[in-house]
Parts: sequence; C-alpha cells; structure tokens
Amino acid sequence: MNRKYRKTVIAGNWKMNQLASTIKPFMEELKANLPKNKTCDIVLCTPAVMVPAMIKAGKDCKVAAGAQDVSKYEKGAYTGEVSADQLADIGAKYCIVGHSERRQYHGEDDMLVNAKAKALLAKGITPIICVGESLEQREMDLTMEYVAYQVKAALSGIDAAQLRHCIIAYEPIWAIGTGKTATAEQAQEVCEGIRAVIRKIYGARPARAVSILYGGSMNAKNAAELLAQPDIDGGLIGGASLKPVDFATIVAATAQEA
Ligand code: PEP
Repeated sequence: MNRKYRKTVIAGNWKMNQLASTIKPFMEELKANLPKNKTCDIVLCTPAVMVPAMIKAGKDCKVAAGAQDVSKYEKGAYTGEVSADQLADIGAKYCIVGHSERRQYHGEDDMLVNAKAKALLAKGITPIICVGESLEQREMDLTMEYVAYQVKAALSGIDAAQLRHCIIAYEPIWAIGTGKTATAEQAQEVCEGIRAVIRKIYGARPARAVSILYGGSMNAKNAAELLAQPDIDGGLIGGASLKPVDFATIVAATAQEA
C-alpha cells in the first residue's frame, strides 16, 4: 500500500451468492467487527439486482455498492443486459469488468472488457478491471507479457483523467477460488509490473495514483502480508468476502503502516 499517493480499497466479489434478503444480517455482523477507524474504502460487488439492498444496508458502515458486470451497449434491444446508466441510476459506484469467470464462461475478450470499462466511466462508475494469467502461462514464464497486454488492451482509448477513476485488479486465474494464493513476492512483482506498464503509457504521476488490487484466495490470514507490499493497494476478495468476520479482518489489515 502507499496511502500517500493512492487509495487503499478492499472490495468483495460475492459472485452469484447471497440474497437481497440476507444482506441486512450480513451487514450487521460486518459492522460489529469492522475497525472504528477507516483506513480503506470498502466495496461489496453483488449481482446488479442486489445493489439497492446493499446500498441501504451498507450506509451505516460506509460500504459502497458495486456490480459485477455491465453491458457494453448504452441502451436498446439487448435482452437480459444491464447498462451502465441503469447501474448508475440505482446507485452502483463500482463495477467489476473482465473477471476471469466472465472471460472463461462468457467468452469476454480484451476488446469487450475495454468497451465495458469505457461504458462505466461515461456514467461515473469506477471499473475494477481484472487481469491475470493462467497456470500454463505462468509456467511458460509468460505472466508479465500476458498481463501487460491485458492492461494495455483494457485501457486503450482511456485518457489520464479517466484513469484516475479506474482500479486494476491483478487476479492470477490459478489462485481464484482454489485456496492457492500467490506469494506476496509473486503478487508484488506483477502489481509493480502493471504499474510500470501504466507509467509507460500515462507517465509517472498517473501511474503512481492508480490503485492496484490483488485477488486470488486472499483471506484473513494472508491479507496483512499481501497488503504490506508497496504496489498492492488492496484486495478483490471472493470467498472470504462472504464471511463477515473474515472480511472485517481483511479490512482491519489495511491499518498497518504503509
Ligand atoms: C474473485 O472472485 O475475484 C476471487 C479473488 O475469489 P477468491 O478470493 O475466492 O479466490
């Protein structure tokens, strides 16, 4: 973390879990366990349909609501899609794009991720842009090359002013939902590399200001070590974000000196 130059963000990704009706008790337990002093921004990304319930329940403990996907289209005959305008209208402040599960199960490619990020920025929603390599790519020593390509593609046509409203999440695919966490050194190395890619495109100042999160089996036990790395500005957390005490512990881990 580096609080001097950028925000620390702890974002949960609930995926297709929980119900609007279970948010209230979840938030009560979360609130009871959150530290008193705020040392990071807290976000919970739910299915779009649950965003209003999250906003209502999250007010008390200053948890912002986010969605997990958005249409690249502005409006019209796209049955089943949810537009950035519609997300903004119900109060979503963040939205994940390019999660590896969407890339894997819904065929999302880098062009689509870029279009979705732009659609969100146009409506004032912060895209949390996910990138990350597969195990095969890591074993072939292609990690940085591949992640650099993903970052460049996702940010194509996004100017420096818009970059200030973007968050990048480095999520090695092999670490998501597997219980296998990247070591703090592995995660730092790639997050530092991502910042270098951004520096090359936008210059030193914008690169210094971008929050880069790590995601992939981050939990209450390993969060502090990961968050102690200079280029890891927070976490995108799946499984552990469904457990209020664990999620609160991860939030508390941002209180360490950075
Ligand atoms: C995720 O879904 O973005 C994620 C990192 O999941 P988990 O923390 O469960 O690995």
